[in-house]
Amino acid sequence: MRAISVDYTARDLRERELAEPGKPGAGEVLFRVLEVGICGTDRDLAAFRFGYGPDTGEFLVLGHEAVGEVMSVGDGVEGLAAGDLIVPSVRRACAPPCLSCQRGRRDLCVTGKYTERGIMGAHGYFTELAVDRASDVVRVDSRLRDTAVLLEPLSVVEKAVALAFRLHQGAPRKALVLGAGTVGLLAACVLRLRGLEVDVVSTEPVDSGRSRLAAAAEARYLLAADGGADIVIEAAGARAAADAGMAALAPLGVLIVLGAFSTTGPVPFMDLIMGNRIVAGSVNSSPESFVQAALDLGRLPRELTSRLIERTGIGEYRRTLAGPPLHVPKVVHMMD
Ligand code: BGC
Repeated sequence: MRAISVDYTARDLRERELAEPGKPGAGEVLFRVLEVGICGTDRDLAAFRFGYGPDTGEFLVLGHEAVGEVMSVGDGVEGLAAGDLIVPSVRRACAPPCLSCQRGRRDLCVTGKYTERGIMGAHGYFTELAVDRASDVVRVDSRLRDTAVLLEPLSVVEKAVALAFRLHQGAPRKALVLGAGTVGLLAACVLRLRGLEVDVVSTEPVDSGRSRLAAAAEARYLLAADGGADIVIEAAGARAAADAGMAALAPLGVLIVLGAFSTTGPVPFMDLIMGNRIVAGSVNSSPESFVQAALDLGRLPRELTSRLIERTGIGEYRRTLAGPPLHVPKVVHMMD
C-alpha cells in the first residue's frame, strides 16, 4: 500500500510501498484511511524541524489528522463495526505508563516518553490502511463525513477551552483568539458555542479571506487586540502573539498558549499577581475532549466549514507539505 513519509537518511519526502496490516488482533480495529489533513506540524516535520520515526528511525509515515472507515474489528471490540466512520487520536502512552498515562491522560504524560502517530516514534495515517486499539479511535456520525477531518484539531481546541473555563475564577464573557488558522477559527467557534463574545486577531488585512472566515465563525476580526479579554487562546504560533495575549488579559483572565513554541522571554509576573491572571500551556487532547469534539463537530457553522477545507489528491503531497505557504486553512488529501 502507498504511504507518504519523511525519510531521515535522504532527508526528503518520499512515497513508499508498505506491507498491508494483517487482521486486527483482540481489541483492535482495522480501517481504511479516507482522508488526511495537513497542519503546521506536518510542514515542520517535512522541514525536519522535529519528529522521528519508530524502530530504526529511518523514516516516519506522516499524517495525524485522519478519517477512516472501519473494515473489521478484532475479538472483544464493542460499539464499532465495519462501515463505521472513525477518527483516531494521536498520542500513545509511555511505557511503563506514568500516572497520567495510566489514567488515560496521555496528553498529560510526565515522562515525555509518549509516542504520537505521524509525529514522534509511531507511523501516521498518510497511507491506505491502519490498525489501532479500538480505545484509541472515536466513532463519528456518518453524516459528518465532510468535516470529520477537523475532529483532531477541534479536540486540541476543546481541551484548551475547557482548561480556560476551569482555571477562570470568575464569569468569563469576552474571549480573544490570536491567529486565524484552523485552530484559531475552531477555537472561535467553540468559544461562541460556550456563549462568549469572540474577537479573532490576525495579521491578514481586514478585507481578506481570513477575516471573512472569522465572520463565518461569528467572531469580530481585528488586527490588534483591544484588551479586557477574560479568555485568550493563542493559536498564532508566535511569541509576539502570546505576549499580546498576555497584555490583553482582563483581571482574572486566563491565557492558554497553544502554538508559541518560544523558550525565552520575560513574563510580566507583576501583572499576573496583581490581576490574579493565569497563563497555561496545553498540548494534544484528552479522551474527554475527543468526545466533546465529536459532539461539537455537527454544531460548527456550515458557512465556515464549507470554506475552511480544500481537498486534493495524494500525489500533491510535496506541494502541501513542502511547497509555499498554503492559503486555505485546511488542506486535506483524499486517499483514494
Ligand atoms: C497535534 C497534537 C500533537 C502536537 C504536538 C499537533 O499538531 O494536533 O495532537 O500533540 O502537534 O506534537
